[in-house]
Amino acid sequence: MSALAERLTEVEERISAAASRANRDRSEIELIVVTKNHPAQLVLDLLDLGVNSFGENRDQEAAPKAAEVASATAGKEFNYLWHFIGQLQSNKVRSALSYASVVHSLDRPSLLDALIKASAERTNPLEVFIQLNLTDDPGRGGIEPKDLLSFAEQVASASCLRLKGVMGVASLDKAPEQDFETIQKASQSLVEVFPEAKYISAGMSEDFEAAIDFGATHLRVGSAITGKRQY
Ligand SMILES: *Cc1c(COP(=O)(O)O)cnc(C)c1O
Repeated sequence: MSALAERLTEVEERISAAASRANRDRSEIELIVVTKNHPAQLVLDLLDLGVNSFGENRDQEAAPKAAEVASATAGKEFNYLWHFIGQLQSNKVRSALSYASVVHSLDRPSLLDALIKASAERTNPLEVFIQLNLTDDPGRGGIEPKDLLSFAEQVASASCLRLKGVMGVASLDKAPEQDFETIQKASQSLVEVFPEAKYISAGMSEDFEAAIDFGATHLRVGSAITGKRQY
């Protein structure tokens, strides 16, 4: 087995174990493999291993990579999706939406406007997660939990978007469980108003098991699977 296959299997096993400890069904948890800092070939290797959800955080890197993967897989029966997970500049929205089916990092009203403009003519609605600001600093990116419902209303009223739920990145200066609990509580208040927006994008290489305990449905795991960054 390749080192990549071994790391993928190990993460899969840890996800299953964490799900069963939390009395959750493994099938309600989606693993997104974050391929940033790695070349298109790694994506192709992961496709061969059965991975079909990939995450990228910078359009400058992701756009050419997605194009390369598309041409390398043309005519083959691969079915896969790109998830955009990083801060998205408004002037990169059109490019990002040319390959991404899901945006996890809807973090500000101006990005909402840009997403609505750019997805007006989509055949399938763009799936979005609202990214929460988990710090005490309102200047940091993300929607503050107290503003979540009013912002969610604006998202939900855009017919070209489908609100999936909330997303968060645990901050480094406290235990991730505290942030995951904040995300879970925010999710519960969101679901009361928008029952379909029940998904939670949380958990990375260092903390995905804790995220599973707090209801994460979409894990964004990079280095634990991909290994050291290649550039
Ligand atoms: C890079 C990144 C990840 C994955 O991080 P790892 O520690 O490599 O698992 C997840 N989410 C976001 C937003 C990222 O930028």
